Amino acid sequence: MTKFILTAFNPANGQRARLHYDNATSELTSESGESLVQAVEVVARANAPAVSKQTPLAKSSPRVLKISLGLSCNYACEYCSQRFVPRADETNPGDVQAFVDGLDSWVTSPPEKVEFWGGEPLVYIKTMRPLAEAIRSKFPNAELSVITNGSLLNDEINDWLDRMGFSVGISHDGPGQPVRGPDPLQDPEQRAAIMALYARLAPQRRISFNAMVNRENASRAAIQRFFIELTGDPAVPIGEGSFVDAYDEGGIAHSLRPGELHAYRNLAFHEIRTGQAANVQAVSSKTASFVNSIRSRRPASSLGQKCGMDKTESIAVDLRGNVLTCQNVSAASTAPNGQPHHIGHVSDLAAVKLNTATHWSKRENCPSCPMLQICQGSCMFLEGPLWDRSCDNAFSDAVPIFAAGIEFLTGLVPFHIEGELRDDRKDIFGFSEQVKPSRDRPPRVFPIPVVAA
Ligand code: SF4
Ligand code: SF4
Repeated sequence: MTKFILTAFNPANGQRARLHYDNATSELTSESGESLVQAVEVVARANAPAVSKQTPLAKSSPRVLKISLGLSCNYACEYCSQRFVPRADETNPGDVQAFVDGLDSWVTSPPEKVEFWGGEPLVYIKTMRPLAEAIRSKFPNAELSVITNGSLLNDEINDWLDRMGFSVGISHDGPGQPVRGPDPLQDPEQRAAIMALYARLAPQRRISFNAMVNRENASRAAIQRFFIELTGDPAVPIGEGSFVDAYDEGGIAHSLRPGELHAYRNLAFHEIRTGQAANVQAVSSKTASFVNSIRSRRPASSLGQKCGMDKTESIAVDLRGNVLTCQNVSAASTAPNGQPHHIGHVSDLAAVKLNTATHWSKRENCPSCPMLQICQGSCMFLEGPLWDRSCDNAFSDAVPIFAAGIEFLTGLVPFHIEGELRDDRKDIFGFSEQVKPSRDRPPRVFPIPVVAA
């Protein structure tokens, strides 16, 4: 764990200051050690499990139950995490009854949330319908959710989703959708069905458009403007909104290249601090979480992985009762560390072994990364070059949130980080050496006034 020295400036008066930030204790202090933020609600927190191949994790009755219907999809999006995952044998409506009948033996207290996952879940509507109805009557208070590409919606499915109380995320990258794949908004019938569902569910905040950021769809402000224009709703919720992870060549192709890092961070920081990305869930939740980590002195030891699938009470299963690393893999697939993603069976949750994942504390760079409290270690099962690229994306995605959070708390914008991090990560916005522009080196575009050194 590491302390970092941040060089920052005050955009109001140009004064520079040095701050100390500790990613293990979440303390933010002046150079002389005085706390810069009043601590609130410092509560004892349990340590997160440090899962790994050598120290696997069992599962328990779920609070979050993710049901994988299968990985079939009517689209083939460019950077889908599931694109090259080997498929298990398809399940079908005939598997529903046995699955539902078996629930009592392992779901011993009602889950808070049940998520229905594909592929494209509505490809499986004949299975999903009886399954969700049985789950709804068994767990009447559970929040049901589904993420769909929206192309298979129609009046009848919309009506059913509404009556069942579903929250719906529609995967769409806004202005970047042509980069991702087919666009249901270009099809008049599909567009009408999507807009009809939005009109039904938006008043209850049960629908969002879920967009991913990538090098060709880098502006969250543009994404936000797209969906405001589409819906006429200035508060349109935009789910997800993080930079893509690199699960394959497609993900690598859409990752940031070395010469693009500073431009992306400048853009993202500007959009965050000016509220142009305020509807984007990843920005609002991560900024709030980071600010609160400092206010509540959240210890890094309490941090699990970003997706939460390293919790004993978060579980992904298929309809045969196979327990999976997460909803994005299948019982037939293998993790990069050589272990099967099929990690056990619901008939014996105590014997489940999540041994496909690596907690951030066991990665080489995460414990000494200043972005740890925001990033939480990227995808827990990636390894090798795909993890390296995802880590690079995650760092550039987190650092504008880091800067915006510290400016919110102190009025000071950090622009340089010293400490045990990689040299190429120290210069946040690309002007560590250039706070005062010179004649031979013109100032880069920066959203706030560049101040005198
Ligand atoms: S940016 Fe990379 S090193 Fe830092 S916490 Fe995330 S995955 Fe770990
Ligand atoms: S382990 Fe988590 S981050 Fe990785 S693919 Fe699964 S849900 Fe996503």
